[in-house]
Amino acid sequence: MSKITRRDFINGTLMAAGATMLPIGCTSDTVFDTLDPLYYPPSLTGLRGSHPDSNTHSHARAWNKKSNWGATTDLKETYDLVVVGGGISGLAAAYFYQRKYGKDKKVLILDNHDDFGGHAKRNEHTIDGQLRIGYGGSQSLVEPKHGSKAVHALLKDIGVDFERFNTAYDKNFYQRNNLGAVTYFNKETFGVDKVVKHPFCNYPNYVEGLLMGDKLTNEAAAQQTPLSKKGKEQLLRVLNGGLHELNIPKHKLENYIYSNSYFDYLKNNLGVDDPRVLRMARNSGLDWALTGTDLMTIGTAKNVGAMGFVPKEVYDEETHIFITSQMVMLA
Ligand SMILES: Cc1cc2nc3c(=O)[nH]c(=O)nc-3n(C[C@H](O)[C@H](O)[C@H](O)COP(=O)(O)OP(=O)(O)OC[C@H]3O[C@@H](n4cnc5c(N)ncnc54)[C@H](O)[C@@H]3O)c2cc1C
Repeated sequence: MSKITRRDFINGTLMAAGATMLPIGCTSDTVFDTLDPLYYPPSLTGLRGSHPDSNTHSHARAWNKKSNWGATTDLKETYDLVVVGGGISGLAAAYFYQRKYGKDKKVLILDNHDDFGGHAKRNEHTIDGQLRIGYGGSQSLVEPKHGSKAVHALLKDIGVDFERFNTAYDKNFYQRNNLGAVTYFNKETFGVDKVVKHPFCNYPNYVEGLLMGDKLTNEAAAQQTPLSKKGKEQLLRVLNGGLHELNIPKHKLENYIYSNSYFDYLKNNLGVDDPRVLRMARNSGLDWALTGTDLMTIGTAKNVGAMGFVPKEVYDEETHIFITSQMVMLA
């Protein structure tokens, strides 16, 4: 396994972050040294995402057509490869490059954020003197055994051990603590803060071990939601709905569900027009698809376990959740 130090990464990522406040003629080490030693992005908490300033320049370019960026700083450094973007793709590209052309090759990775990792960053917390590393975005290697040869070789090279998951992840945690999937309705949107013991969609299947069985019936759950009477009726229709609501001959069904919209199905076949029910339905595939179900066909919505479709396992049988390679690298 190759040794990549934190400083190797930090040096590159912070160089871009600090470039604007540098004296002319400095090096990336100077940048590192000008930063507050306590400045450590992985320990920052909260929903950070694209933090303030990360898009200042790109927005100025895109929205205000700014093209004059003033004086530049000559870092007096040369690189064999410059990678723009320190997400997992950029980091992998840099790694592949060094593997192919030699470890002596110098690579500069630029990023417009204060830490590397992109959508697969990590968070670090020190609890009772122990360092805990958690994910700051991407959490799993989905179906890792189905990855390409290049992906497998990379993961092996940087020390990701697939089998480790089986002993490292406490699969019985939820069962032991009688924890099941619930849904939280917030006051801002639904008028009252309320928890209903029903997942309403497929997200529990992304968390291995979370109990599915101990939930309310569809009828009882719909009744407990803070929706109007009409909304509750519509929600129940969605929960009890499914492909049987479509009056389409069996041999044409597959083609139909992949060429017709899930939202049209909700509105036209199930008569849903309550904005709060539509909102619940819209968000019910986010976890898997990162997009609203209003952009999905019925078939896609069914596959991701959107509201009204029986939750089903979406990951392969062998493996469910793996900490990301980045975390393993740093551990
Ligand atoms: C909340 C969340 C959960 C996820 N969960 C999973 C999961 O469980 N399993 C899974 O497989 N996938 C998951 N994903 C998706 C996965 O994280 C991404 O597909 C993956 O991280 C993308 O990597 P990337 O390097 O291609 O892009 P990115 O991670 O987006 O990296 C791009 C990098 O480029 C930088 N950049 C952009 N523009 C510029 C610029 N102009 N100059 C310099 N730098 C720039 C960005 O800051 C970023 O660091 C999840 C994503 C999110 C957001």
